[in-house]
Amino acid sequence: MRGLYIGRFQPYHLGHQAVLEKIAREMDEIVIVIGSAQESHTLENPFTAGERMEMIWAALAKGDLRNICYVIPVQDINRNAIWVSHLQSMVPSFDAVFSNNPLVVRLFSEAEVEVRKPPMYRRDMYSGTAIRRLMREGGDWPALVPEPVALLIARMGGVERLVQVSGSDNSPRRSPAKI
Ligand code: ATP
Ligand code: MG
Repeated sequence: MRGLYIGRFQPYHLGHQAVLEKIAREMDEIVIVIGSAQESHTLENPFTAGERMEMIWAALAKGDLRNICYVIPVQDINRNAIWVSHLQSMVPSFDAVFSNNPLVVRLFSEAEVEVRKPPMYRRDMYSGTAIRRLMREGGDWPALVPEPVALLIARMGGVERLVQVSGSDNSPRRSPAKI
């Protein structure tokens, strides 16, 4: 049996890892889809699909997960009505989808694909939105992601990128240029 797990993974965090470990207990193989693969360098989606692939692959090195997972980036098509068939055309066949995202649940249910809803793990802490906020505010985000992911983000200059793209060309310069 093969399961599908879809997310934007901006960034990949310990909540995602807990879900994958649970799916691995129910399925023989897991297709991990990196959604919105075309997005990067924004507040909501700071990392490229390639960077997110690296994060997931590094985190999966621990344990046996790497041996049973495919990691596949898929771009948005901005047409919800045909999104499930688009996805199915891009990944190996699968028997069930694991998601709590209401739109994802709705679209797969309409397509008569089995949907399983994994329990939420400390959603107050383990959430991409909360982690990106901590990154911008100088909080302890590394505690919320697998260690290899924290190292990769540091090497990519991920925090600096997020802070920089959250700026505006209307805000005053920190150090005015001398003319
Ligand atoms: P964002 O806040 O940017 O949406 P996210 O934490 O929801 O980030 P996604 O990549 O959107 O991360 O999530 C992929 C899937 O993982 C979704 O189905 C989401 O509900 C689920 N998920 C995210 N965090 C947790 C968690 N702490 N426990 C269980 N499932 C989670
Ligand atoms: Mg989400």
